[in-house]
Amino acid sequence: MLSAREISGEVRIKEKDVLEHLPHIARTVSGSRDKDEKMRFIVEPSRCLGCGFVFKKRERLKTPSRCPVCKSEEITETRFGITEE
Ligand SMILES: [Zn+2]
Repeated sequence: MLSAREISGEVRIKEKDVLEHLPHIARTVSGSRDKDEKMRFIVEPSRCLGCGFVFKKRERLKTPSRCPVCKSEEITETRFGITEE
């Protein structure tokens, strides 16, 4: 699992651009119907380090800047990965 920031470092494109590309990558991965290679795009949600709140329902892929519960700004980065089913 990698955060957008880490992917950005790996492929040398801006973090903002990584976030723009991710929905397309997610669609491409889930759309692959090859029976031998069933891949799935997975998102590990951000979590607040202050109170443990998990941003499960967040549709946007960008790491949230602040916790809605305790207002802490210490949020783990949203991480992404591709896994075989
Ligand atoms: Zn919190």
